[in-house]
Amino acid sequence: MTEYNADNNRKIAEREQIYRELGIDADIYAYGARTEARLRDRFAEIDRTAEYNQLKVIRAMQKNRVSEGCFAATTGYGYNDLGRDTLEAVYADIFHTEAALVRPQITCGTHALSLALAANLRPQDELLSISGRPYDTLESVIGIRPAKGSLAEYGITYRQTDLLPDGSFDRDAIRQAIGENTKMIAIQRSKGYQTRPTLSVDAIGDIIAFVKSIKPDLIVMVDNCYGEFVETKEPSDFGADMVVGSLIKNPGGGLAPIGGYIAGTRECIENCAYRLTSPGLGKEVGATLGLIQSFYQGLFLAPTVVAGALKTAIFAANIFGDLGYPVVPDQTESRHDIIQAVTMGTPEGVIAFCKGIQAAAPVDSFVTPEPWAMPGYDSDVIMAAGAFVQGSSIELSADAPIRPPYAVYFQGGLTYYHGKLGILKALQMLKTEGILANLEEMTSLNC
Ligand SMILES: *Cc1c(COP(=O)(O)O)cnc(C)c1O
Repeated sequence: MTEYNADNNRKIAEREQIYRELGIDADIYAYGARTEARLRDRFAEIDRTAEYNQLKVIRAMQKNRVSEGCFAATTGYGYNDLGRDTLEAVYADIFHTEAALVRPQITCGTHALSLALAANLRPQDELLSISGRPYDTLESVIGIRPAKGSLAEYGITYRQTDLLPDGSFDRDAIRQAIGENTKMIAIQRSKGYQTRPTLSVDAIGDIIAFVKSIKPDLIVMVDNCYGEFVETKEPSDFGADMVVGSLIKNPGGGLAPIGGYIAGTRECIENCAYRLTSPGLGKEVGATLGLIQSFYQGLFLAPTVVAGALKTAIFAANIFGDLGYPVVPDQTESRHDIIQAVTMGTPEGVIAFCKGIQAAAPVDSFVTPEPWAMPGYDSDVIMAAGAFVQGSSIELSADAPIRPPYAVYFQGGLTYYHGKLGILKALQMLKTEGILANLEEMTSLNC
């Protein structure tokens, strides 16, 4: 017993020592340890969701007889690509849909969403977004912001109803907005970079039933980015006709180097395939060039990777929230995506936070992020990422426009331990730069 205790104490001291070597002061470390200890129950709940989702993924892989032969690289047209076709069947089983399209030729999340829209809408059809303003990049896709090749240029019209102030759907407005030409309903699950709450799968399910009761043949498309595997159910379990996302976010598990997916009804997915490749060819072509193993392996890891990202987000909400920084979601709220916003209140605070995240990275830890005038934004933007896959936001990453209220948005973390280091580094950076006035006084509250 005493021997065990001595051994345990030595390990704790060793761990603290390596944090010290990574530049984390004793007070920051201790504050982190106290915060973490309080989160044990929440973390256990996240682990239970991850366990369920892990089994869901394994069951789908077993059912579809995933084998070594599925990992072979295909080239050229890619006819009879066993790995690709099997992976699409696996995705369909996980999302409980009739079909899926999972391709490296889908270059990113915006592309997947653009494809799902363009493939299933025809001139004179109307698209109705019922979760308010869609994600930034979709403004050009839809033509809200005039752009070459937008849906608007093809005579597809757009309407939108906003969420109510409490974040729920505006049923009266939706009922009024659904008209003769309304063909598709778009719902964005994650808040993206807005301050509204993220929608739960239950809330999405309820509203799908509502819109289909008004007009049964509506196609409901859910932008599922950042939401996959956060809960045990997906919007497609509640009648969404398409769920759409990026493989360099949750379902790629950090290993997929490119790609997007659409899972949905046979009809919708067929339309998407004909649009992605060509009428007549559809799903039959599209070589996977040796990437498919990373798609499988990333999907296999995705439930635990998402769990790590969620724990990181909750840890950060508590670390910064308890110090008085406004955090969305807050310390105790339930989680429906992996994004965390922290309002730093000053440009210096934002920059120090991002420097801390960068300094904790496995890749490019030695570079210093600086605000810059990014095309398409009306203020300077700072980004921190030290990722294995460029722009991957399932890896620990942070970005912030340099404008009031000076909020940082961050997400990801392939492992919780990395995420924890990133958050402690961010706090450390605030302390080192003299922005964090009095940690001792502030943190004595939660001792
Ligand atoms: C990331 C994201 C997108 C766009 O994905 P990209 O891969 O960046 O093109 C769309 N919608 C939401 C909600 C997202 O989070």
